[in-house]
Amino acid sequence: MTSDIEQYRVQAEPYYQAQGREIALYEAAYRKRLPVMVKGPTGCGKSRFVEYMAWKLGKPLITVACNEDMTASDLVGRYLLEAGGTRWLDGPLTTAARIGAICYLDEIVEARQDTTVVIHPLTDHRRTLPLDKKGELIRAHPDFQLVISYNPGYQSLMKDLKQSTKQRFTAFDFDYPEAALETVILANETGLGEDMAGKLVKIAQTARNLKGHGLDEGISTRLMVYAALLIQDGIEATEACRMALVRPITDDPDIRETLDHAIDATF
Ligand code: ADP
Repeated sequence: MTSDIEQYRVQAEPYYQAQGREIALYEAAYRKRLPVMVKGPTGCGKSRFVEYMAWKLGKPLITVACNEDMTASDLVGRYLLEAGGTRWLDGPLTTAARIGAICYLDEIVEARQDTTVVIHPLTDHRRTLPLDKKGELIRAHPDFQLVISYNPGYQSLMKDLKQSTKQRFTAFDFDYPEAALETVILANETGLGEDMAGKLVKIAQTARNLKGHGLDEGISTRLMVYAALLIQDGIEATEACRMALVRPITDDPDIRETLDHAIDATF
């Protein structure tokens, strides 16, 4: 069991640049074992924040990337057929509840609602997880905490968390960091000079202004890190930016042209 826990420990301190009071607020939520929801667009630092908090609190972290094919069994566990009979295998949520890990369900809204409800008894005073198929009721380890991420930009009426789920969480609003902070993040994360990092931020801001005017989402901090890494590897800045910042996010020729122009004007 000990070695099981060890594999989920965040070994080295992840680099995390705070945007506000989120570290202290998360620590308070953890002290009371309140469930946490981290909201914000893709690639803005949600997962990095959770990883950093798990490291800071010294707790194991089990991350699950949710998708629409995911069933409750994928979270909770299932019987496996073996030559000698059947064997129960805990799912990631069950493992986290048993060992006292922080369980991070990334993009929870992707999961079907009948999957989402299995987390309910873990998020209130019960802190239990019924394994119906196995006939076992797990009482969560005192260190266990549930964290989910949620991208409000993707939500539609058809696909949203139910109020009965939302109202089980405290929540953080994340967004792309403001310009000076994002420049520092890029420089620290990749070693790129602040001057060049600032230029990448400028281009990203042009794209972010196009959100809702032809772009579904702006350029994420994650893509800017990619551009910075390519530049660090010796790729010319305009080429790196086209490859990392523009081509992934849109196929619309007009928007591509607008962004390509912005890149040429910057360098
Ligand atoms: P998501 O919001 O999709 O979970 P991530 O947490 O994976 O996004 O962030 C994407 C990348 O952006 C990270 O791998 C990291 O390089 C960088 N990043 C974003 N915000 C921060 C931050 N506040 N501190 C350090 N790195 C950050």
